[in-house]
Amino acid sequence: MTTDPSGVVVVGAGIAGVACARELARAGVPVRVRERAHVPGGRMASRRFDGRPADLGAAYVTVDDPDFAAVVDDWRAAGLAREWTDTFVAYGPDGRREVTGPMRWAAPRGLRSLVEHLARDLPVTVDRLVLGVEPGPAVDGDRCAAVVLAMPGPQAALLLDPALAAATRAVQAQRWSPALAAALRFPARRWGDFRGAFVNGHPVLGTLCDDGDRRGDGAPVLVAHTTPGFAAGYLAQPTAAAPAVEEAVRDLLGLPEPAEHVYVHRWTYAKPTAAGGGSYHLDADGIGLAGDAYGRPRVQSAWLSGRALGRALVERLA
Ligand SMILES: Cc1cc2nc3c(=O)[nH]c(=O)nc-3n(C[C@H](O)[C@H](O)[C@H](O)COP(=O)(O)OP(=O)(O)OC[C@H]3O[C@@H](n4cnc5c(N)ncnc54)[C@H](O)[C@@H]3O)c2cc1C
Repeated sequence: MTTDPSGVVVVGAGIAGVACARELARAGVPVRVRERAHVPGGRMASRRFDGRPADLGAAYVTVDDPDFAAVVDDWRAAGLAREWTDTFVAYGPDGRREVTGPMRWAAPRGLRSLVEHLARDLPVTVDRLVLGVEPGPAVDGDRCAAVVLAMPGPQAALLLDPALAAATRAVQAQRWSPALAAALRFPARRWGDFRGAFVNGHPVLGTLCDDGDRRGDGAPVLVAHTTPGFAAGYLAQPTAAAPAVEEAVRDLLGLPEPAEHVYVHRWTYAKPTAAGGGSYHLDADGIGLAGDAYGRPRVQSAWLSGRALGRALVERLA
């Protein structure tokens, strides 16, 4: 595939890359998106088990920006997103209490379907691992007008030629923490009126969500996210964490039966712990960086960052 030298190459089809590419395409700037995975979505990841998707990355979407609210409304109108709950349980040293927060949105077909919907009219090439971004700029040897790296900084660092000094500095300033996500399928729903929980001060668990409740099909599936500290010990072999995660979940909810199936996914770069300044990076070498590192570790921040970078590139290239 050759690249239009007057166009932009966006690397990464998570929500930040897709938001950026939409802005460029809308303004008539030639853009191509390259994604290493089989599907778009990135950390809004849904994996199928026996045909049923379970959300293994972002647990839900929250909204407080009016422009992002319009995007969520489009997803709702398309039947892709639904209001799930504003009430979680918080477990901590003082016991268990209900906490009310913002409305959490879920996706019946999995959160990945939301990114796929946004990307539907974009030229996204999947199964395309980008290996190098060189001065020019160029992507794997193809010249272009600008390159967007819409992914966690440590992943972008693997691609950047060190001669691209400003972008290299920007990605090196980011700090990320890991997590494991475990999908646990039980023989039956035995957890009563439980939707989701923040688990504070626990050595293994960080959050726990009822995937059947949030997706609306009532399947007896829970998804647990571990603490960064626990995840760090299992990054080389995430499957080995399954027994400890299952035990922690059963213990927390008092579940009598073992799970029928446990799948563990590793997120080496789950969440940024040190954010970049501003809402994106764009330098004189024509390298842009976007994603949730430029805000809170949220879907909304990633979308806002990608869109802001897209707008800045439109202005620069017009
Ligand atoms: C366990 C977990 C729980 C979370 N919970 C929530 C939550 O409840 N609510 C919330 O709002 N947010 C949550 N988040 C954060 C949310 O998922 C992210 O903020 C958002 O999805 C980030 O999108 P992004 O586009 O910036 O990055 P990503 O989604 O990471 O996209 C980067 C893309 O780049 C691709 N890529 C990387 N390297 C290459 C390469 N060399 N070549 C080609 N493609 C490449 C990747 O495959 C990926 O698709 C959670 C994240 C995790 C991991």
